[in-house]
Amino acid sequence: HKQLLQRLLNSKIITADDRIMEVNANIGHPADADSALENGADGIGLFRSEFLFMERDTLPDEETQFEAYRQVLQKMGSKPVIVRTFDIGADKQVPYLNLPKEENPALGCRAIRICLDRRELFKTQLRALLRASAFGSLKIMFPMIISSEELNTAKGILEEAKAELSAESVAFSPDLKVGIMVETPSAAIMSDELAKHCDFFSVGTNDLTQYTLAADRMNSKLAGVYNQRSPAVLRLIHMAAENAHKAGIPIGICGESAADRTLTDFYLKIGIDELSVAPSSVLELKEALQQSIDVCKGKDSTKNVTVS
Ligand code: PEP
Ligand code: MG
Repeated sequence: HKQLLQRLLNSKIITADDRIMEVNANIGHPADADSALENGADGIGLFRSEFLFMERDTLPDEETQFEAYRQVLQKMGSKPVIVRTFDIGADKQVPYLNLPKEENPALGCRAIRICLDRRELFKTQLRALLRASAFGSLKIMFPMIISSEELNTAKGILEEAKAELSAESVAFSPDLKVGIMVETPSAAIMSDELAKHCDFFSVGTNDLTQYTLAADRMNSKLAGVYNQRSPAVLRLIHMAAENAHKAGIPIGICGESAADRTLTDFYLKIGIDELSVAPSSVLELKEALQQSIDVCKGKDSTKNVTVS
């Protein structure tokens, strides 16, 4: 068993139909990249960049942000790092931004909506990310997208940031991938369209569950209603996976349910390409995936018996 874990620490999971299933880590701070590596993560599937806003009481400038992103990218070397642009609002409040009080913050101006409204904030982050892209394998991901229009507006601002840096002769990676979180029912329903305009999907099951079931993820009284395994949520994930693959782009899961062992077979069956979980869950999940795959191939890795 120890040998199996040691092997999993340093190797990628190959599915029964010979595809790579990346097992990545979710992090909220550059220091967490160390624990992602120690636990055998193939990369970072979700870097929640809003930590930069939440742990201070003034706006982080471009230099501060650049340093944080560069640190993560350098630590991860050639491994992929998906940085999600600021997801502020709703359950992630930043008092000094002085955002107007809202009746329904979860349905209000949050995440990409704030970025498209306060473009100077967004542009600063994109410039910092682009500069950091020269130091590793960066992918940028936009949260809370609901339409192609929104995605294309965000991509337009990214292009402006690239043009600015080129004019200043500042280096950035030319083939940087851009993806979206599928965490609204709208994004899942429109996933055929959205897949034509981006390089990857990552399903945020925490919000997708909240919005699909109209159940506040923070309300403990709704624990029985807020069900990430609900057939409605699983249908939306399945739909997004089919549309991603039809368009030839990969799809991952980065919400809590990526680590749900009762969903592992479902994710394998619908061809999910990447699962991203807390660093401490990476190795356990790799083991569970390997067991499922071995059963599928007719052998049991724990007994180390090969059936020819
Ligand atoms: C999600 O919504 O599933 C997600 C991964 O993002 P967050 O939990 O940060 O909203
Ligand atoms: Mg979310």
